[in-house]
Amino acid sequence: MQILVVEDEPKVANALREGLEAEGYLVTLARTGEEGFFHASAHPLDLIILDVMLPGTDGIEVLQTLRKQGSRTPVLLLTAKDAIEDRVVGLDAGADDYLVKPFAFAELSARIRALLRRNKVEAEGALKIGALEVDPVRRLVAREGQRIDLTAREFDLLEYLVRNHGRVVSREMLARDVWKETARATPLDNVIDVHIARLRRKVDDPFCAKLLQTVRGVGFILGGEPQ
Ligand code: CA
Repeated sequence: MQILVVEDEPKVANALREGLEAEGYLVTLARTGEEGFFHASAHPLDLIILDVMLPGTDGIEVLQTLRKQGSRTPVLLLTAKDAIEDRVVGLDAGADDYLVKPFAFAELSARIRALLRRNKVEAEGALKIGALEVDPVRRLVAREGQRIDLTAREFDLLEYLVRNHGRVVSREMLARDVWKETARATPLDNVIDVHIARLRRKVDDPFCAKLLQTVRGVGFILGGEPQ
């Protein structure tokens, strides 16, 4: 479970990191709103703990921008004691929960577990092929519970193959439906093959069973038993 903590006060940030790591979470710290925003945009996360009072871009702005970009990562806001307005604005901006500083770590920990549970239930719309899970909403991929990081194009390609699971998919279909390029003078075959090779390296190579097969002269098929 990956948690991003955006907090400018080093004492609070370090205490949070220590406490969360002791509970088995993987924690990244960001000291400014900008840093937090860039990290959240570039890495898959399970949860963001976001302080409202940050120098420069504050927590509310970071949250608004993330939600505008379609991020659905659960966000827990940390707000100041008397800043009721922050809580209202924060919840309106798409925060999932908030805690008022100072707070007991045990309470934070319980709130985090509740948010992660809720998110897991929502994520059950994920597509599953055997132990491969593709979540089209959060754009996350995991196999045997291990997170797999894909580029946007690799994700689109894998999602397409999963949706067409058990069927042969031709390079023409991929060019049309994934690359959305039908009017090219030169075929995309090489580009597609490179992406297939990369996908195979990430999704198949670390595992025993190979899901992605090449059907010579035709295209590709994603096999495995459906669940
Ligand atoms: Ca602060």
